[in-house]
Amino acid sequence: MAKKLGPGKCVHCLKDVEERNSDHVFPESWYPDSTPLDLEKWQIPSCISCNEAYGRLEQDFLVRVGLCLDPHDPASKSIVEKAVRSLKPAAARNARDAQHRLGKGKRILAQALHGDKIPDHGVFLGLDDRWADIPSERTAILIPKQSFERITEKIVRGIFYIEDGIFIEPPYIIDFFASAEDDNSPWQQALERWGKVYERPPGIVVRRAVAEDRVSSIFEMTFWKQFKTYAAVSR
Ligand SMILES: [Zn+2]
Repeated sequence: MAKKLGPGKCVHCLKDVEERNSDHVFPESWYPDSTPLDLEKWQIPSCISCNEAYGRLEQDFLVRVGLCLDPHDPASKSIVEKAVRSLKPAAARNARDAQHRLGKGKRILAQALHGDKIPDHGVFLGLDDRWADIPSERTAILIPKQSFERITEKIVRGIFYIEDGIFIEPPYIIDFFASAEDDNSPWQQALERWGKVYERPPGIVVRRAVAEDRVSSIFEMTFWKQFKTYAAVSR
């Protein structure tokens, strides 16, 4: 469970609060089994309500994304197993837990799209690699866009806090992007030239390029070596 910290500012909502927890920037359960044992995991101070809200979002995200990752790649194998196990009533600790797992699996399956019902847009790059060759045999798991946004924002705030001790406050805002066009885009060129790498491999690798004001920046995040998200911090 999260370590208790004293009063201070929450990295996420920026409120001054009496009680804070130490929150994992990249959730603890997201570190695959292939993570080096001596790796220090990123942690930041968070208010209790942000910590709990992120906990729920991250759990849901892990199951949905876990069903789309490569079950053979060491970077994601244990994550896929965890996602599948979390939906299996047979793996439950008690009857209530079994019901919970069954309900969650039914909910995710009810939202899934099949065959020609899957739209061309909105398919997340890197999560579609293991689809069946025949389109009618494909299944798409619904993953809320907001989850990608919130998780990306959390990592942006976390890296600024850990590296520079900075809270990202107005007038700065964080924008999320699902892709960064091609390899020759100005964005990619800036990351190539000025980007610094922050990593907790193989779970997460982040590249960040910061402008002269020390806050405006662009980010590229690679999750489990399989998909990327992007963010920009600007005024
Ligand atoms: Zn908060």
